Amino acid sequence: MSTEVEERPASSKQSQEQLTDGFHLLIDALQLNGLNTIYGVPGIPITDFGRLAQASGMRVLSFRHEQHAGNAAAVAGYLTQKPGLCLTVSAPGFLNGLTALANATTNCFPMILMSGSSEREIVDLQQGDYEEMDQLAIAKPLCKAAFRILHAEDIGIGVARAIRAAVSGRPGGVYLDLPAKLFGQVMEAQKGQQSLIKVVDPAPQQIPAPAAIDRALSALKSAKKPLIILGKGAAYAQVDDTIKSFIETSGIPFLPMSMAKGLLPDDHPQCAAAARSLVLKESDVVVMLGARLNWLLSHGKGKAWGEPGTKQFIQVDIEPREMDSNVEIVAPVVGDMGSCLIAMLGGMQKGWKTPPADWIAAVNDKCSANVAKMKQRLGSDTTPMDFHTALGALRQIIEQRPEAMLVNEGANTLDFARSIIGMSQPRKRVDVGTWGIMGIGMGAAVAAAVETGHPVLAVEGDSAFGFSGMEIETICRYNLPVCVVIFNNNGIYRGTDTNPTGAEDVAPTVFVKDSRYELMMQAFGGNGVYVTTRDELSSAVNEAMDSGRPTLVNAIIDENAGTESGRIGNLNPQSVVKK
Ligand code: ADP
Ligand code: MG
Repeated sequence: MSTEVEERPASSKQSQEQLTDGFHLLIDALQLNGLNTIYGVPGIPITDFGRLAQASGMRVLSFRHEQHAGNAAAVAGYLTQKPGLCLTVSAPGFLNGLTALANATTNCFPMILMSGSSEREIVDLQQGDYEEMDQLAIAKPLCKAAFRILHAEDIGIGVARAIRAAVSGRPGGVYLDLPAKLFGQVMEAQKGQQSLIKVVDPAPQQIPAPAAIDRALSALKSAKKPLIILGKGAAYAQVDDTIKSFIETSGIPFLPMSMAKGLLPDDHPQCAAAARSLVLKESDVVVMLGARLNWLLSHGKGKAWGEPGTKQFIQVDIEPREMDSNVEIVAPVVGDMGSCLIAMLGGMQKGWKTPPADWIAAVNDKCSANVAKMKQRLGSDTTPMDFHTALGALRQIIEQRPEAMLVNEGANTLDFARSIIGMSQPRKRVDVGTWGIMGIGMGAAVAAAVETGHPVLAVEGDSAFGFSGMEIETICRYNLPVCVVIFNNNGIYRGTDTNPTGAEDVAPTVFVKDSRYELMMQAFGGNGVYVTTRDELSSAVNEAMDSGRPTLVNAIIDENAGTESGRIGNLNPQSVVKK
């Protein structure tokens, strides 16, 4: 306590105790709503806010760059169904966080980006304040909702609105603008407390209409080759038992989107992941559960989906406007995943026939054939390692640790890992999501460790890692059980491109050859290991996952092993004109 306070006369001390301010009201409002972790980067005008939040018992995790703090907040939101909090400074910090906010909104992850901002009067007259920027206006088109709180007495309402906007209906990102002046505003403590709101039922159930359920079930009953596609909206909903009983009662083969892997284990007898091309092409009625018919599913049409006009889609989603976004949805079921599936299960109990045996047999045959083919490749033990050698090792490690979290980004590293590493529990896999974004890695790894307490394996392309690599200091600082494995093939896609002009600059996709990424981890006190063989990789990662010690394994991969843009090379236009 400072001497200044002690020297005050008793009456003044008393009146101090009866006052509160913007700092404390904001902390109280967040805590009242069970929001106890902040991911952010300190600075003007929110430095003291972070300190006071920590002093009040909140966990305040500082990052080296706001984008990664934001990605951590978004992943926290996905894993917990509570909005993840990201705290940034004004203009540049806000903009850095905005990428994560937009990404969260695109992925339907609930988060709140709270940024300090400059003086409104000066910003609005464009008089050149410190870090002047009309942040609210800039955030609006990039998130689900954006609010500014100008008065301390509105903090309770502002936080309540932000929470509801983030988690109700289709979840998403919310921006909360906090002008510097707000923090210092003083009001009577009792009035302040009365102004706070504990949000009741922030994500209300949305019950589907009975007619929608009947329509969906009658479409599904007519199917000869039905298919269920599970998306990360189904994983987010945390109704794992209901999903399991819906799928098992239906007897229908299911295909998990990448972050829905593990809702039912990948080795479940109904899992059609190994027959993906076949089921997309051949199915006649497709049930979408919390998955969108976006680019990741070829928009529900085209070659991948077989003959035009042969499909009927049933879609279960909390967002009514998602229906018919790409193709006709013959049976929209709008509501929360739990309520929709319980209603469908209820209907099925009145009489249900599992799908025709020839369809099931066709899917199973294809799966067995592909699994056998893959099994052979996963036993490979080449040096230098290719993707199958390295991932064959990591696959076993995850198989032995079903509770571990897996973070995955890159191009080839992502594509191969997604199909090779099986998941057996829900919400264990966090990856590049809807945008296929690079740079989520270390932010996601921090949140995965902090929110679940389980060990995290982050499987990273060398290029992908570079976007958030400095956050390994954050991982070391908080001593998080994160093992980062870098698939080091000397560059983007591959390390073999050359500069056709013969000049000194290397090709745009090439990095420093044989980079020693493991030394970065050692610099911060973590464990850094350089490996070139499958055995070395296995033992380094096993040790890291068991010890929980921050570790970076620099896994040298054959620089010829990757393909351009991984499996989405078709999206990367290439010139056919030779000059
Ligand atoms: P994926 O990439 O795995 O296919 P998407 O992110 O494209 O998944 O789709 C997720 C969908 O899930 C979104 O359309 C979203 O509206 C929906 N969704 C999110 N939460 C729920 C919920 N609780 N109940 C039903 N649908 C949900
Ligand atoms: Mg690479």
